[in-house]
Amino acid sequence: MDDKSIFSRHVVNISPAPSTFGMLARVKEKERRGERVIDMSIGEPDMDTPEAIKEAAMKALRDGKTHYSPSAGIPELREAIAEFETKRKGVPISPGEVIVMPGGKPVLLYLLLALTDEGDEVIYFEPGWGSYRVMLEMLLVKPVPIRTTEAEGWRINTAELAQRITERTRFIIINSPNNPTSAVASLADLEEIARIVQDHPRLLVLSDEVYSTLVYEGAKHHSILSLPGMKERTVLMESLSKAFAMTGWRLGYGIFPEPMVKCVVNLISNTISCTNTFVQYAGLAALTEALPEIERLRAIFQARRDLLVKLLRDIRGITFVEPRGAFYAFVNIKGTGMSSEGFSDMLLEEHSVATVPGTSFGPSGEGYIRFSFATKLENIEEGIARFKKAVERISTL
Ligand code: PLP
Repeated sequence: MDDKSIFSRHVVNISPAPSTFGMLARVKEKERRGERVIDMSIGEPDMDTPEAIKEAAMKALRDGKTHYSPSAGIPELREAIAEFETKRKGVPISPGEVIVMPGGKPVLLYLLLALTDEGDEVIYFEPGWGSYRVMLEMLLVKPVPIRTTEAEGWRINTAELAQRITERTRFIIINSPNNPTSAVASLADLEEIARIVQDHPRLLVLSDEVYSTLVYEGAKHHSILSLPGMKERTVLMESLSKAFAMTGWRLGYGIFPEPMVKCVVNLISNTISCTNTFVQYAGLAALTEALPEIERLRAIFQARRDLLVKLLRDIRGITFVEPRGAFYAFVNIKGTGMSSEGFSDMLLEEHSVATVPGTSFGPSGEGYIRFSFATKLENIEEGIARFKKAVERISTL
């Protein structure tokens, strides 16, 4: 099966999901050899799923919720999501606009299937989550990345955005809070993006807000969907993965403009049929009984973030923008003269600290490495002490 020619154009260049998954195997291998690896590459909360949610799943199993469910999701969960999002977004969202999916990820996949033809274009911002590019290429859609920079606090450059829209642009992906930069989009920037989108009648926004509950330092999460006239032009990608420490459950949802719902539900019913039924009851418990867990988990991340920022500030020769959301710090290591891959490799091999090279988030991530603070305080302390040693050693060479 080495002959690449047997594969379709959809997959011929496909790589494993970038960042975390490749690193995980190397971490496990080192741990098998008895080394203490500090894993700061992780893209998921390390906490266990709250008990009330697990109980609800077990009850659902006992109650025989083991059959297919409607392709758009069980009505109770769609209602709970609509109520939850109406409150957060400040605009009315009806259960009929909610589609439950196995995680946030499939929202992009189904949106691409629903809206794009070969050669269409989708704009996203870079450094950005690696799966955007892979999924676009898989559907033969042209990725149009626009750079954000550390110097501008990783803000979206709206002037460039306006210039890069063509007749083939189908949608723009916004990701706030951002992976990997941890930037949180300001209301003013979102208003500017909305103005640009409204100048183009066919253009939509995919707003990836899977980190929406994780903001720090008084930063406020805003959604472009809440802005006047934008609900009809926005698809929301949301997930219970990060907010409730439920990554492995695979439970997320999309909120779609009403005219798109039927098409997306048809795609689901003909491909995966539906999202796991008993998991949906767990999601219902999360959004009805376990809402205080969101703040409890956020506060844990806030303490970790504060420690990480304090420790990083103490290292000479690196720079970074303080994370305002998600659970990452995107650190500039250009002063060491090493490449992202080279530095990340050295940190793992010589100091047993796992990070993700910035280039996993596109070429503009060169010169950066991503630290995740989804790990315990003592691991952050030890990991950054080892990182500091590595940086200091290079600068004395
Ligand atoms: N969007 C971003 C930016 C992410 O980092 C992730 C996961 O790491 C996702 C979406 C998808 O999350 P899930 O499919 O678990 O909801």
